[in-house]
Amino acid sequence: MNDQQLLRYSRHILLEQIGIEGQQKISAAHALVIGAGGLGSPAALYLASAGVGTLTLVDNDEVDLTNLQRQVLHTTARIGQPKVSSGKQTLEQINPEIRIIALQERAENQRLEELVSLASIVLDCCDNFATRHAVNAACVKFGVPLVSGAAISFDGQVSVFDSRNPHAPCYACLFPPEQPFEEVLCSTMGVFSPLVGIIGSTQAAEALKVIMGIGEPLQGRLLLLDALRMEWTSIGISKNLQCPVCGNRHGN
Ligand SMILES: [Zn+2]
Repeated sequence: MNDQQLLRYSRHILLEQIGIEGQQKISAAHALVIGAGGLGSPAALYLASAGVGTLTLVDNDEVDLTNLQRQVLHTTARIGQPKVSSGKQTLEQINPEIRIIALQERAENQRLEELVSLASIVLDCCDNFATRHAVNAACVKFGVPLVSGAAISFDGQVSVFDSRNPHAPCYACLFPPEQPFEEVLCSTMGVFSPLVGIIGSTQAAEALKVIMGIGEPLQGRLLLLDALRMEWTSIGISKNLQCPVCGNRHGN
């Protein structure tokens, strides 16, 4: 680390749990952020400012006026631009020392697997169950830790699924893929602006902890936030040995 980097990250380095060693782990990490919207914005802002060495942002959407109430990576002047290039501009202004890869695409199937296999950690900041399940399956397949977040209306949830641990549950253990569900979208339900900031920032915090191997990540726990009461609830999640995604990996 050069003098500028020592200064930039000095408030991290001062923390005994982080220090230079932890900061170097952050610099060596490659985070894949799926979605550059409400959750992806705060998550990417904190990962970039904290110095995550490589940040890949994936989103196929363009910035829309209705996004600006909560998607803090973007600006009014960038309406109509791809969200990933708007995000890249914002992040580079905050931290020009890191590498930001902006991919305007809907990552699916083999492409998604390729992107996940290159990452050291994945943050699922998307807005639909199909993508969440696909991201989870790819993370299990390649043993890449996943920080999952969701927010709608005044309700948020966040958890960590670390398939490097064969006893850890995956997203599909919690929400079985074959179970019918009702998809609720921000575009129809609405979403409280700071809620996505709270959940997305929590995802960034968990990702940094997993990268450094400090503290106790939210593995095996689902954190639920009721923002109207500003009340957090933590519920335990167990591995489903019959899980179609991770169930056969026990003891591998
Ligand atoms: Zn599972």
